[in-house]
Amino acid sequence: MMYQECFCGSGNQRRELKDARGIFCTFVCDACEPEKRAHFRPEIFSDGSYDADEPIEDE
Ligand SMILES: [Zn+2]
Repeated sequence: MMYQECFCGSGNQRRELKDARGIFCTFVCDACEPEKRAHFRPEIFSDGSYDADEPIEDE
């Protein structure tokens, strides 16, 4: 895998931040992960049965 710098400008390698359902949220690194996480509701990372804001179509 290629080394890809995080968008926050830290120069650290970025990684995918995924919620408890495995849904991609954003890219983070060690420097900015706490700040990036703050933009999301904390329960989405701990509870995979969280209620989504978006209407979900029946499958
Ligand atoms: Zn970063």
